[in-house]
Amino acid sequence: MTQSGNPLFVQIAIPVPLRQLFTYVVPPNLLDKPLKIGERVAVSFGPRQVIGVVLSVSEQTELPLNKLKNITSRVVDNFHFDAPLLQFLQRCADYYHHPIGDVLQQALPVLLRQVKQPDVSLPLIWVSAENIDSTLLEKLKTKAAKQYALYQLIDKHLSITWAELRTLGYTKSQLTALETKGFIETKERQPTLFKWAESSLNKENKLTLSTEQAVVLSAIEQTNESFSCHLIDGITGSGKTEVYLQAMETILAANKQVLVLVPEIGLTPQTLNRFEQRFNVPTCLHHSGLNNNERLQTWLEAQRGSSAIVIGTRSAIFTPLHQLGMIIIDEEHDGSFKQQDSFRYNARDMAILRARQLNIPIILGSATPSLESLHNALSGKYHYHQLLNRAGNSSTSKIHLINIAQHQMEHGLSDTLKSEIKKTIVRGEQVLIFLNRRGYAPAINCQECHWIPECKRCNKPYTLHQSKQLLMCHHCGSQRRVPAQCDSCGSVRIKPLGQGTEQLEQRISELFPDASSVRIDRDSTRKKGELAKLLQEVTEKKHQILLGTQMLAKGHHFPDVTLVAMLDIDGALFSFDFRAAEHMAQLLVQVAGRAGRESKPGKVLVQTAYPEHPLLQDLVNNGYKHFAEYALTERKQAYLPPFGFQALFRAEANYPSYPDKFLREICATLYEGCELAGPLPAAMEKRGGKYRFHLIVQSKTRKHLHQAIYQMLQLIPHNEWQSKVRWSVDIDPIDLSW
Ligand code: ADP
Ligand code: ZN
Ligand code: ZN
Repeated sequence: MTQSGNPLFVQIAIPVPLRQLFTYVVPPNLLDKPLKIGERVAVSFGPRQVIGVVLSVSEQTELPLNKLKNITSRVVDNFHFDAPLLQFLQRCADYYHHPIGDVLQQALPVLLRQVKQPDVSLPLIWVSAENIDSTLLEKLKTKAAKQYALYQLIDKHLSITWAELRTLGYTKSQLTALETKGFIETKERQPTLFKWAESSLNKENKLTLSTEQAVVLSAIEQTNESFSCHLIDGITGSGKTEVYLQAMETILAANKQVLVLVPEIGLTPQTLNRFEQRFNVPTCLHHSGLNNNERLQTWLEAQRGSSAIVIGTRSAIFTPLHQLGMIIIDEEHDGSFKQQDSFRYNARDMAILRARQLNIPIILGSATPSLESLHNALSGKYHYHQLLNRAGNSSTSKIHLINIAQHQMEHGLSDTLKSEIKKTIVRGEQVLIFLNRRGYAPAINCQECHWIPECKRCNKPYTLHQSKQLLMCHHCGSQRRVPAQCDSCGSVRIKPLGQGTEQLEQRISELFPDASSVRIDRDSTRKKGELAKLLQEVTEKKHQILLGTQMLAKGHHFPDVTLVAMLDIDGALFSFDFRAAEHMAQLLVQVAGRAGRESKPGKVLVQTAYPEHPLLQDLVNNGYKHFAEYALTERKQAYLPPFGFQALFRAEANYPSYPDKFLREICATLYEGCELAGPLPAAMEKRGGKYRFHLIVQSKTRKHLHQAIYQMLQLIPHNEWQSKVRWSVDIDPIDLSW
């Protein structure tokens, strides 16, 4: 507070797409409590009231006083951005050249972005009731196995919330049933600082590490006191999670917190279950299956240090943590760590930045590391650890190629594949068939004149969705009814062209009438809770054949799946996108990792018309690591990432000349140490009626790249075309199709 009762001037970050701060006045009557940097304030901006964040305070200003507005009010509650978090977010904004106001806004839970203040309550936890009748419990065990399992988890865990139980796949009705029967009760989790205790570890679940695992753990533990980045490159089932758990134990035992980032926790309750079974500590979640209030609670508990573990998806990287001691990124190669719109950050990369800032260790784990991480590990920037053997007693599955150029195909399935499917079903095991194309058919066409109906807004064929009798554009979502006649020649002979998951499902049930099949893709799992239900049915072996898109490749454990088939991978071998082969290989190896766990040997069959392709051959014969090293030498020769650095300007408008000219004007200047590619129409040149153009900026050094982007952004306000286009800049882009 100013001594004299004078106002203060504050510089505020506001969530608008402008790369600047705004000065406001804090009148003396709002200065009864000291004003903190990182505090939220309500201000009027144009016609709206918005929440801004105070980034600096001064007693003077050079701006004309009559131009400045007062802040409306101060949001005095129990949250403000503390200095380390603010500094971290400022670095994120600088790295991605993104407006700080928007970065801060995206870091905040939704309820803290609003002018209206939320009611903040303490989270409720479930605990077992006292004095439980053992005969009743025995009855529960025999009569209601699921409720009993839930009871056991609650009984063992001193502090588990409904959000955690729900994410683990338990239902409200199971919980209510247990409560009604008097087995469990609920109470508030107290906002006390987390302290490790004897009971924090469930010792009986701890495994004795293999020599391989023990070596990795001890290397990590030697660096616990300072920044270091560890890459664990270990095949699926090699025991990476067990290494994480034991590495976390040491950190938690020192009363520090651990942040765990995963691609999609809602899809992989098994991983969460391992954490909950091992540690009896307050754990907070952050993922899309939580409501706004639950996310706010996660944020607040993490900040005041009452939670020990925070597990979440991408944006959990912005969680404030009282005393963060370690970060773990599982499946670090996964594309979902990169946000693909507005603030285009990569949570893995920002996690490394945050670990460095806090001087703590970070562990990246994957069976198929990204070429970026692998390069950093092989060049000695990260500690590199390999786990080459499967833990426990499961065996590794082998990949076989089926040459479809030489085979009779029926409904997209070769004879070899059909007979393998049959054999697997007869043995009582399960089959997973993978086709990365949802819908019934990727197009329909006229048998007379070959007319193909296209979406006018994207110039791409409509996908047929047979069950709804609709043509849908997978790019912009527009739809029309399936025409009875050809628009061009009037013929009624209109047929599906190619095959999607919906058609495959139909064919499979015709070919294997005695087997039950289930389809898992974005269409079949649109309803909330549907995915969990289908996955549960698979685990219970209600279905013998499981088919779907790459949704199936993400971390699910299907112990009885012993045959995995991939129908169509050739597109990735000949893509314009230099990362397509890497992604194809990761997918293949990840899917292969799902087969033959739990001591049943598995088989992976890949249908391709190009079995001699060198990348495929390398992958199949020599494994992912060998493939990756070969791919890295190719990248090196072309100065592609990670040997060069890229940024991508995207621009779109209703007419193609606007984005083209907008980007051309950016290119008119010379930028030291940088090469420009473009402007060029994007691979998907038109979408939703907009014409889209790219400009790729490349450099051999990050410094030059960042300098150039900075200069370019300075020029944009003077760009003649800027008001006519929508544009964005993407640092380290991973999707070049748009
Ligand atoms: P990853 O995370 O690499 O896929 P996990 O840690 O999930 O591997 O381990 C795979 C399986 O092997 C799990 O069922 C796990 O319980 C078991 N496992 C892991 N480490 C050991 C060990 N040291 N001894 C026995 N079993 C282990
Ligand atoms: Zn026709
Ligand atoms: Zn479209």
